[in-house]
This record gives sequence, structure tokens and C-alpha cells, in this order.
Amino acid sequence: MNNVTDYNNQTITRGDLKYQGKAKSVYWTSQADILWLHDTNQATALNGKVHENISDKGRLNSAISYLLFKHLHQHGVATHYLKHISETDELVEKLDIIPVEVVVRNFASGHFVSRFGVASMTELTPIVQEFYYKSDALDDPFINDSQLIALHYATAEEIKSLRLKSAEINDILRRRFAEINIELIDFKLEFGRRADGNMILADELSPDNMRLVDKTSGQSLDKDIFRQHKGDLTVGYREVLQRLEKLEK
Ligand code: 5GP
Repeated sequence: MNNVTDYNNQTITRGDLKYQGKAKSVYWTSQADILWLHDTNQATALNGKVHENISDKGRLNSAISYLLFKHLHQHGVATHYLKHISETDELVEKLDIIPVEVVVRNFASGHFVSRFGVASMTELTPIVQEFYYKSDALDDPFINDSQLIALHYATAEEIKSLRLKSAEINDILRRRFAEINIELIDFKLEFGRRADGNMILADELSPDNMRLVDKTSGQSLDKDIFRQHKGDLTVGYREVLQRLEKLEK
């Protein structure tokens, strides 16, 4: 992998590893406000307790994320994404990450089904928005507004904004996937603060953190293939990428 790129007419060099995530590595760069992400081939489930190396997964995630972030930008959503620099690497803006996973659900699936005992794929109206405290050690526990505020993880204003922004992103992505006959069942987002305090979308947008099913066959095209041992995960991811790429032509 090349460790030099350019951005805004400046040379950016990859620096030391900042953080080793479950499916990506995060590096410092020669610019204090820019990070270098590398998507690995690791697939994990049960918060990292199950993991496997799956050839081509990093490239597929990187390419899908790029197209979805680009689409959000075209719809005026501010995000940390700066540049797709190789098949598996991207530059992003360094943010002060809010330690909250925002889950948006259009249909019941996964933990919503096991927690509330409703039938899988029940349509949820209005949409469901949930917050989880990001902590592998604690298994990402459910967290509510007053807990977020009392623990100083987010202000009341920021919580309001997390709800508004995640609902807006849901509308845009749901419509985009509908164009390629895919239903967006649910997904997880993360946000961070810029130096000026402004909160924007961070993390990645890939089938690792969203449930996607083919609207006709009901077939899973996301990490549920791996979680539920339903075959080769890259078949689903590749299908998502090919359909998104067709929209670019
Ligand atoms: P559930 O709460 O049903 O397990 O997940 C809801 C949605 O959020 C799914 O699309 C799932 O992929 C995503 N999600 C929830 N927690 C995590 C997480 O810790 N990491 C990732 N990558 N995605 C998550």
C-alpha cells in the first residue's frame, strides 16, 4: 500500500497507527486534522467475539462507503469523508467522536426482534431511533437521553441533532437503495464534533453496519450473511456495490 497521497494540493503522508478497529485501521497523517483509514478484510460478529478474514471485504466496504458518502454530500449532508485514495483507503477529517452508536430502524430485525419479541420485518412507523454507549468492554449498552447528558457524552442540543440528522440520512439512503430494489432495514451511525463544535457524520457506511435485503427475494445482502452463517458474505456485498455502481453510469 502506498503511504503518500495528495489532498487539496498538499502531500499527505500516512503516520503511526492511532487505533486498530475491528474492521479498519486508523492512522495519523502529516496533517493534524486528517486521518487515514484502511479497511481490513476482518469480519466480526458479537462485538468482536467471532472474527474471520474474508478476502476482498475491505475493498468492497471501501467502495460502497465511498459511493454512499458521495451521495450524502450531493444531498447536502456534512460528513468527515474527504477522499477515496485507494481500493481500501480513505482520508477523513479528524473529529472528536461522540461515544454513541445511533441505530435507526425501518423494520424490526436483529436485537429489536429478540428484545421486544415482535415478528421480524414488521414495519416500524414512525422509525425507531436508539442510542448505545460505544464500549466493547460493556457490550455497547443501551443509553437514554438523561444518561447521555448526565455522563457528559452529549448535550441535549446534540441529542436533538443526532435524531434529526440520522432521520434525514435514513430518508436519503432509503430512497437511494429503493432505486436499486434494496430495502434499508436498519443501520448504525456515528457522529463527531469539528473543532468549532459542529456535529457531523463520521465512521463508515457499508453492509457491515446496515441491514440490506433484496426487495424481491428478501435475501440478505449484508453482514447477517456472516452472522447467520448463510454463505459467502462477499457475494452480498458485491451485489450491493454492482447495483450502486450502475446508478453512477
Ligand atoms: P442490532 O441492534 O439489531 O444488532 O443492529 C442494528 C443495526 O445496527 C444493524 O444494521 C447492525 O449492523 C448495526 N450495528 C449495531 N451495532 C453495531 C456495531 O457495534 N458495529 C457495527 N458495525 N454495526 C452495528
